[in-house]
Amino acid sequence: MDFLPLFTDLRNKPCLLVGGGQVALRKANLLCKAGAKLRLVAHDILPELSTLCTNAGGECIRGDYGDHLLDDVFLVIAATDDEALNKRVSAACHARHIPVNVVDNPDLCSVILPAIIDRSPLIIAVSSGGKSPVLARMMRSRLEASIPASYGRLAKLVGDFRDAVKARFSDIEDRRHFWEKTLQGPIAEMVFAGKDAVAADMLAVAIDKADIDSGGEVYLIGAGPGDPDLMTFKALRLLQRADVVLYDRLVAPAIVDMCRKDADRVYVGKARAEHAVPQQDINKLLVKYAKEGKKVARLKGGDPFIFGRGGEEIEELAQEKIPFQVVPGITAASGCASYAGIPLTHRDYAQSVRFVTGHLKDHSLNLPWSELVHSSQTVVFYMGLVGLPSICEQLIAHGRDADTPIAVIQQGTTPQQRVVVASLATMVARLAAEPVQAPTLIIVGEVVNLRAKLAWFEQHDLSKGGM
Ligand code: SAH
Repeated sequence: MDFLPLFTDLRNKPCLLVGGGQVALRKANLLCKAGAKLRLVAHDILPELSTLCTNAGGECIRGDYGDHLLDDVFLVIAATDDEALNKRVSAACHARHIPVNVVDNPDLCSVILPAIIDRSPLIIAVSSGGKSPVLARMMRSRLEASIPASYGRLAKLVGDFRDAVKARFSDIEDRRHFWEKTLQGPIAEMVFAGKDAVAADMLAVAIDKADIDSGGEVYLIGAGPGDPDLMTFKALRLLQRADVVLYDRLVAPAIVDMCRKDADRVYVGKARAEHAVPQQDINKLLVKYAKEGKKVARLKGGDPFIFGRGGEEIEELAQEKIPFQVVPGITAASGCASYAGIPLTHRDYAQSVRFVTGHLKDHSLNLPWSELVHSSQTVVFYMGLVGLPSICEQLIAHGRDADTPIAVIQQGTTPQQRVVVASLATMVARLAAEPVQAPTLIIVGEVVNLRAKLAWFEQHDLSKGGM
């Protein structure tokens, strides 16, 4: 290890910054954020920099650097493009054992500044030991993306209750178990959901009950329409926490594979008219696993609250007082429309969009047809493939132009995506010649024509057959 990472308390400590340009400004921002007392020296100082320095109660010296400026200084940063000056500052600091950082010159540094992910009070520092700041920044970007902003609030909550937990659990192992459970359980989830006050109440109760055992809970997770990249960070985080995963036919195997290797996977999928596990039994299974103390992920295609029966599943959980969370997902309409190059709304062609189920009940479709025929409304049919002849026929019968374009998107967002475009009058014949595979989504409206205009999508279409 070339450098030992240390976190330094700079509050009210005099720190010297040599340099007055953009780089110095960035360093000054950092130092001020950490509460340092800034001493700034340079011939030319950017106006923002001098304002920042003065506002933070610092000292702005316009002129030459001299070694006397190092008196009583805790840390020095040299951010000038004058190499000789940088060397002089570094040598003087080394002689006096004052930690010094010279920007972009690791050989002259006794301390280096890492790339930072700031979730104060949680701070993560990444360093390449000065070898490749770009690589360190890339690592930081990855971490930025995978660590929710709310971790800072979680760390604060833990800090607020640290003494109370210490007082309640004398055994260090018990304390560790308690915090492990808290940081991964419903209390942490409350913080991530922005309900800090509720989380604090729950934490107070848990401390009081000395609650070390972890309870069961259910995550109703929207897995998106197929492409695993369309999962949300939250979906992935909760999926990887689950002990049991219940999944649908619509959930791509690559998504199910993202769960922990030791998690049990239970297929409860539904193909049309062939219910692998009836809905009632799925609800009961969720309750059963949660009551065994397990973290249960219920993975659903698209969004759980859009034709997903998510409402029914949580009703049972609520009745049984089992903690649960619903994680929204990208619904098939959004995913398929984007990947097929069909904007669902457009200032000139569609001012509204409507999601409708095309599922047949007793072999017929009972829909408010007159509400679906406005020419400036896009209508998206889920589960509509079997009822497609009826959909086209009824829309025309109720007044929608027979030439209205319609798209049928097969297995949208997956490598098997295919888009078939025709009109209300011609689609049925078209599909007879070119059958599509479920799941399919149907989009009706003028916006479908935009697909032809958006040449980019023609070139990059995932589908082989295209329109
Ligand atoms: N909750 C889901 C919808 C479940 S209903 C969501 O929000 O997307 C099931 C219907 O969704 C299917 O019959 C089909 O119409 C549509 N669907 C789901 N995924 C799809 C996909 N990848 N491509 C096309 N249609 C899809």
